[in-house]
Amino acid sequence: MHRLIEGYRRFRAERWPTERDRYEKLALYGQRPETLVIGCSDSRVDPQTVFGAGPGELFVVRNVAAIVPPYETGTGHHGTSAALEYGVRVLEVKRIVVLGHAQCGGVRAIVEGAPDSAADFIKPWLQLAAPALQAIPEGLDHAEVIHRCEHEVVRLSMSNLLSFPWIKDAVDAGRLEIEGFSFGVANGALQRFDGERFVSVD
Ligand SMILES: [Zn+2]
Repeated sequence: MHRLIEGYRRFRAERWPTERDRYEKLALYGQRPETLVIGCSDSRVDPQTVFGAGPGELFVVRNVAAIVPPYETGTGHHGTSAALEYGVRVLEVKRIVVLGHAQCGGVRAIVEGAPDSAADFIKPWLQLAAPALQAIPEGLDHAEVIHRCEHEVVRLSMSNLLSFPWIKDAVDAGRLEIEGFSFGVANGALQRFDGERFVSVD
């Protein structure tokens, strides 16, 4: 049997009985998540798992490298910006969290260039993160450049969030806060950006 169907059956047998009330209330009253997460599509970095959250708690948008594009309303198909607009203007979340991570293939491609087999969309998408790369000092070894870039992309996304006028207004009014994190896939440890650097979360 398909692995996903087996997983669904486990969910119905084990989780549904204990979470049924919660799902039914969420269906009846709608979702009111307080946190919007911008995460990477990477299969190892599930925001709900990392933050120990349940259904209804996190409004999540995931894309390659957890990049927030700058505010622009041209003719492009702005999936991430649409999710931000819904989360901030309709759901009125109280917090936006940018969740980057170690061993990010998207960040590696920012540093090394996108694979030739993925040039249609990945290349222009990762171009958005060029300022993150420019923020890294010269003279570091390759692994350190990648590690620094993982953090710089989180900072760039946090900064780009403020280019959305309704996000800036909400932050200025104290209705919304922006936080940045980085998750270590190999050690399961979370770091939080404290305004200057990334520090371990105890
Ligand atoms: Zn990633």
